[in-house]
Order: sequence, then structure tokens, then C-alpha cells
Amino acid sequence: MSSSTVITNIATLVTNDPSLGDGSPLGLVQDAAVVIDGDRVVWTGESSKAPATDNRVDAGGRAVLPGFVDSHSHLVFAGDRTQEFNARMSGRSYTAGGIRTTVAATRAASDAELEANLTRYLTEALRQGTTTFETKSGYGLTVEDESRALRLAAKHTDEVTYLGAHIVSPDYADDPAAYVDLVTGEMLDACAPHARWIDVFCEKGAFDGDQARAILTAGKAKGLHPRIHANQLSYGPGVQLAVELDAASADHCTHLTDADVDALAHSDTVATLLPGAEFSTRAEWPDARRLLDAGVTVALSTDCNPGSSFTSSVPFCIALAVRDMRMTPDEAVWSATAGGAAALRRTDIGRLTPGARADLTLLDAPSHVHLAYRPGVPLVSGVWRKGVRVV
Ligand SMILES: [Zn+2]
Repeated sequence: MSSSTVITNIATLVTNDPSLGDGSPLGLVQDAAVVIDGDRVVWTGESSKAPATDNRVDAGGRAVLPGFVDSHSHLVFAGDRTQEFNARMSGRSYTAGGIRTTVAATRAASDAELEANLTRYLTEALRQGTTTFETKSGYGLTVEDESRALRLAAKHTDEVTYLGAHIVSPDYADDPAAYVDLVTGEMLDACAPHARWIDVFCEKGAFDGDQARAILTAGKAKGLHPRIHANQLSYGPGVQLAVELDAASADHCTHLTDADVDALAHSDTVATLLPGAEFSTRAEWPDARRLLDAGVTVALSTDCNPGSSFTSSVPFCIALAVRDMRMTPDEAVWSATAGGAAALRRTDIGRLTPGARADLTLLDAPSHVHLAYRPGVPLVSGVWRKGVRVV
């Protein structure tokens, strides 16, 4: 039998329901309370009106927001790329080829080593307020190594993405077409049972538009839903393809034409921005303001991976988005919660209203704005996932 708990004395509550509180997209309620029963939120409102419950937690005049939804990460890998990062920060530019280093280390690792690594980064992310995460394969690039990555990931999340098309496997360097055949054939058959999504890195040096379309279309036929690494390093067909195939998300979106922005604005495809990647590669920032002003739904995620964005911290990405991508603090917090949920086509997370999953983050600060105002400070002081306090 479940018991009910009220979290009360919340200075600022982010509900992400514009019908509540101040009527903004964040639905901010001051001096608020949330009631949890089992794994669900059952009541949200002003503290003074909260119903009677079995248990009571005093938030001490601090802020509560929905747990972060990190809709883009690459956490099934072995090894790291410290030397590559160090070299790049000393003047070398980033190219897609560095992935091969991680592929070699991942293939050589045991299942236990890969899962221990995955668990370590998940724990790290949870401590920083992430209660839902998506993660991808893409460092195996063989039938066996891709399917085992997905099998391991599926033990820890429902949001698992098949990314056999991360780069052309080094084993197929002379025959990329044969690798596409593998990714859309035997590898897809082995991977589809463990995944919800299919992804492709549509970029010069990875897969072109025609190859990406073939890969995602094959995935759709097997019941996987598309998402795309699109327009990260250069202009290209990725965003238009994402819209054409009704992908849940086009990720990166750094190099966009006006037609790309317009296509996103008139679609159900979310633009997922990953400022950790631009930070870690000293690359040009995506222009979130341009997307938001055009009416595009924007999500904010970490892209946590050992090569181009080795951070599991959503708060860090929020600070970057506000400082360097021209988002307001409210927009960045929305994008890291409700936006991430939209990028995963989920309505049960990313909001704190009756019926939502009881995933909450308590900050050691009176307002969510402090996530950008106090960058680099570990402000997350409590996390509930599915109604259970885990931090
Ligand atoms: Zn990525």
C-alpha cells in the first residue's frame, strides 16, 4: 500500500503547467507544496491549501522543479579521450573520426566493465538532478557489440537508441555501402528488440542524407522511431530529413538555414541543443534565440560522451544555454525538463502536476534561476524518482 507525502514550504515551484501559478510556461507557484502518492504527483498548489498526508517534508524555503530529462547521451562506452581533449584545447579541431578510439576500447571491454561505467555516470547524473535519460549504442559497430550495448542500456532506462550509424565502422572503411546494408539488415534485426529509437549521425565524414534516410526508414519498418544527429558541424540535409520522417528530435542544430528553422517550426520535431559539445570542442554556439523566436520547441541535453561532451551535468548545460545561446533562465529550465520530455514524446515526465511521475529536484536555492545565476555550484540537494527520495 502506498503512502502519501507532502513536500511543503517550497519558495518557488516549477510545474511546467501554464494554467497554474503565474501563468508563465513554467507555471511558477510561490510558497507551494506538492503531494506525492506512490510514484505519482497527486496534488500541486499553495502550501496553505495542501491536503492532509501521511508524511511531511519541509523544503525550507527552497525551489523544487521537475527532475531533468536528459534526452541525448552516449553512456555505453569504455576508456576516455583525455589526450584528444587536451590536444584540441591546445589548438586541434574536432572531427568525427575520434569516435574510433572509443570503439576500440568499447569492443575490448567486458559486459561487467561497460555496465559499471554506465552505472557510474548514471549515478553522477542523478546526483545532479537527472531523473530520466536516453542513451545510445554507437561504440560497437558490429552486430554483437551494438546489440550488447543496447541490452545493457535497457537494464537502466526505457529510452534506448540504436545508433549503429554513428560512423562507418573502420572494418568497412573501403565499402560504406556494405556497412549501411549491415546497419539496415542483420544489425537492425539484432538491435531492434532492445531499443525504442533509431538514430544516425548525418554529417560529412559520417552518413549523407540518402544513407541516413535509408537507415531511419529501415528502422521505422522495424518499429523504431527516428531521431537524428543533424547539422552539428556543417549545413546539411539532417534537419529537413528529421521533419520529413517525423523524427522526435533533430539534435545539435548548430548550422541552420532559414528553411531549416521554418521546417522545424512547422513540425512536431523538437530541436535538441547540446551546449556541452560546443563548449568541449570550442565550436560555434547554436542560436537558441533564433529557434525560440521562430516557434520551435527546444530541448536541452548533455550529449554526455567521452569525446565531444564529457559532462553529465544538466545544470551546467542550463548555465551555458543562458550565457552563450541567448536563452532566458526560464526557457533553459523548461527545455531541460518539459523540452526533454517532448523530445522523447513523453507526457508523464517533465512536469509537476497531478498524474505526472513523481520525479522532483530540490535545489539548495530559493529559485530555479540560480541554476544559471550560480554556475558550477552543486545546488541539487534532493532528488525524488518515481516518488522515492534517491538523493
Ligand atoms: Zn550525440
